[in-house]
Amino acid sequence: MKAFNRLVVATLPLAPRSLVRRVASRYVAGETLGDAVALVKSLNAEGCMATLDVLGEDVTRREETEQTVLDYQRALGEISARGLDSNVSVKLSALGLKLDPAECRRQFGRIVEAARSRGIFVRIDMEDSSVTEETIRIFLETRQQYEKVGIVLQAYLRRSLADARRIAAVGGNVRICKGIYVEPPAIAFQDRDEIRDSYVELLDTLLDAGCYVGIATHDPQLVDRARATISRRKLAREAYEFQMLLGVAGTLRRRLVGDRHRLRVYVPYGEAWYAYSVRRLKENPSIAGHVLRGLFRGAEG
Ligand SMILES: Cc1cc2nc3c(=O)[nH]c(=O)nc-3n(C[C@H](O)[C@H](O)[C@H](O)COP(=O)(O)OP(=O)(O)OC[C@H]3O[C@@H](n4cnc5c(N)ncnc54)[C@H](O)[C@@H]3O)c2cc1C
Repeated sequence: MKAFNRLVVATLPLAPRSLVRRVASRYVAGETLGDAVALVKSLNAEGCMATLDVLGEDVTRREETEQTVLDYQRALGEISARGLDSNVSVKLSALGLKLDPAECRRQFGRIVEAARSRGIFVRIDMEDSSVTEETIRIFLETRQQYEKVGIVLQAYLRRSLADARRIAAVGGNVRICKGIYVEPPAIAFQDRDEIRDSYVELLDTLLDAGCYVGIATHDPQLVDRARATISRRKLAREAYEFQMLLGVAGTLRRRLVGDRHRLRVYVPYGEAWYAYSVRRLKENPSIAGHVLRGLFRGAEG
């Protein structure tokens, strides 16, 4: 299956854009803020919350970060004006983290300001391991000024338990995910069960410290383990939420909502949808198989 996935990724640039668009449309709300707003409204009507992600990531010129900031300011304006049950998720590399961390802090500060004036929560997504430390630092600095900011920890990183303790000390709001980038064994668990065990350990550590946790996974086994933790601890509904990606595991998502768990759907949108889809696949060829199945099976989400 690995060779097959790699083959899909290698031939992807040869696939017609329209074909990639058909596949991507399941995972991306569309190109415009209007598309994203319409989708969030329908998710809200289904009883799901949302988080908006303006597609961008790795910028090569400082000027590109300006557009990203404007897009987030507009998104925050729409969330507020339309009373949507949504927050935003931001990748710091889209604000130039890898080019100029000082400029990234300044641009992120502008997004945080737009969120603060409307009382909206901002999540900082976690990217590859080259920026883990700087991302956590920016989170900790920002949190001193605005409480409604959160971070992500990746269960596959060996360092994450120590990071969880650092973040727990300030009572942060943390999304836990397995981690999507390909990382070497020296710094990341590779075994599926080890990653799951690390995930549950992070969950326990953060809940012990009274942190609000976003349980981001579509893995039925992990969802069951998280549900067992929630029951054992008799957690209030407001103390945690499940999170899933748009277009993935629709049946599991509906079951969790039906069982009265809070659930947030991650909604990416923007003109950069093509580059985003191709990059995601290149970063982690193991999802190429999902994409190909999506082509033949149609949307499940
Ligand atoms: C809300 C949310 C936010 C995230 N934020 C980050 C982040 O900030 N940083 C980061 O590194 N990672 C992030 N991720 C990705 C995460 O790290 C995993 O790579 C991804 O969720 C797959 O892991 P899983 O726990 O769902 O388990 P898996 O075992 O990988 O997946 C379980 C099942 O879910 C389905 N599935 C999973 N992913 C897909 C997909 N893309 N397409 C189709 N089906 C799929 C498959 O049926 C699979 O068998 C996020 C994930 C979610 C849900």
